[in-house]
Amino acid sequence: MRDAIRLIADLHTHTSASTHAFSPLRENMEAAAEAGLAAVAMTDHGPTLPDAPHLWHFQTMLRVLPETLCGVRLLKGAEANAIDFAGGLDLPARELARMDFVVASMHTQCLTPGTFREHTETWLALAANPLVDCLGHSGQPEYPYDHDAVVRACRDSGCLIEINNNSFSVRPGSRENCLDIAARCAEHGVPVAVNSDAHWAGQIGRADEALALLAEIGFPEELILNADRGRLAAWFARRKRIAV
Ligand SMILES: [Zn+2]
Ligand SMILES: [Zn+2]
Repeated sequence: MRDAIRLIADLHTHTSASTHAFSPLRENMEAAAEAGLAAVAMTDHGPTLPDAPHLWHFQTMLRVLPETLCGVRLLKGAEANAIDFAGGLDLPARELARMDFVVASMHTQCLTPGTFREHTETWLALAANPLVDCLGHSGQPEYPYDHDAVVRACRDSGCLIEINNNSFSVRPGSRENCLDIAARCAEHGVPVAVNSDAHWAGQIGRADEALALLAEIGFPEELILNADRGRLAAWFARRKRIAV
């Protein structure tokens, strides 16, 4: 039996800049240091979601925050909202292009669920968008889509697919979809990011349920981007041209 997989980075986390999250940035980074993480992406909600920060949050974040905090690499990012079925997002390209990590997600408050085909087209457009680095919690049951087509699009573009630990508690019905998405990723050799989607510091780096799901299907460890320092660094060097 292989050793339990340990995450070395968390690429989807919220700070209290999103007011339904409860820890300021420094507390998240302290928790990350305690958990032994090398990097954390701060990805607060795009401005269209209720109680998300204003655009100024993202502009100022890019200007003032350090590269490292509490000894942990701080990746400045966002969880941008899909706002139409053509892949439109709620943050300007100018800001997205300067971020270290961009997750794109669907939330019912920002995008009323449509048809299977519309959801598939949205994910295909997002996967092909070079400003998007990772498709967020796509296993949620409100937006069924063609897993195989989207995973193949990620293989072609280099976009990641997330296995989101928070989905198992806040988005019931995600598990079966996540199992199938992960199986398609294994089949097509597409890397996943396993993330906490933390809404308070105690959740940073915690993704036990997501990792258990991957273990259940024998998911290849080498396709978990944030389980290995060298793999993470190589991905960021290639896609984002930054040192992580
Ligand atoms: Zn989300
Ligand atoms: Zn989130």
